[in-house]
Amino acid sequence: MRRTGLLRVALLFALGVAFPIEAALDYMLKPRKVAADTYVFVGLAEDFTRANGGNIVNTGFIVTADGVVVIDTGSSRLYGEQMRRAIAGVTDKPIRMVLVTHHHPDHYFGNQVFGDVTVMALPGSIGGMKQEGGAFADNLYRMAGDWMSGTEPVAARDEAKPGRMSIGGHDIELIALKGHTQADLVVFDRTSGVLFAGDLVFWQRAATTPHASVADWLAALEQIKALKWTTLVPGHGEPHGDARGIEQTRRYLTWLDATLRKAASDGLDMPELLRTRLPDDIAAIPLARQEFERSIAHLYRGFEQDEFDKRPTK
Ligand SMILES: [Zn+2]
Repeated sequence: MRRTGLLRVALLFALGVAFPIEAALDYMLKPRKVAADTYVFVGLAEDFTRANGGNIVNTGFIVTADGVVVIDTGSSRLYGEQMRRAIAGVTDKPIRMVLVTHHHPDHYFGNQVFGDVTVMALPGSIGGMKQEGGAFADNLYRMAGDWMSGTEPVAARDEAKPGRMSIGGHDIELIALKGHTQADLVVFDRTSGVLFAGDLVFWQRAATTPHASVADWLAALEQIKALKWTTLVPGHGEPHGDARGIEQTRRYLTWLDATLRKAASDGLDMPELLRTRLPDDIAAIPLARQEFERSIAHLYRGFEQDEFDKRPTK
């Protein structure tokens, strides 16, 4: 009896090391209805941390008569699993397809749990997933720890073709743009008026630029602005019904571009550029200082090279 009791204590202790950690890992994904049949899991406007586990991204889904269209799959296997469970809490319709907006890991690392359905992305995004998935995974395991357990980067299998498709009463347009990455898919549901902009639009969270081309990105924002949507779901930040996310993203990128260009023209080195004072409206965007510093690392050499190329050769 006593032995059994001790054994039980030992067993509970052993399990206790594993179980509470697993049990505590809950992204608390709550689908928010933004239009008829349309839901968004709104992520936090934060960096990856062990506290948020990577719940920093917006994902969403559209419930059509012919099944569910999922937009992006989140940052881990666990996110994907909890997302599927949350979708099943809203509808008993099967998942018809997954559309991945681009190849950044917070948008596709849940792909692993959608092995039973079509998972589509633009060809440029599929290439990026295959090429960079391993490095992304290393990085995320380091930043988010146990949340990433069992996560493997799984590239989208099917190529998304730009154009309109009719699914279960929804007229959904896939639009191929670029700028945030070399391939950014925008999903525009013309039936509900909801546009999923992916990371071409950030709202109240400074834009990230590891694969950015600012000129392409600004052109893409113009194209999005010209479409007749009623609700815009940014890749990061609250969904909204006007152009505020487009304008803020444009303002940030325009300032970033002008600042790096002038610094290169003035011959500043990176430490000097890092001391730049942010204008008040830029500084007011959450994570602007951190993203500015990262953007210098991502982009400044390109600006320096442009400046160098402009000089007359003797
Ligand atoms: Zn991104």
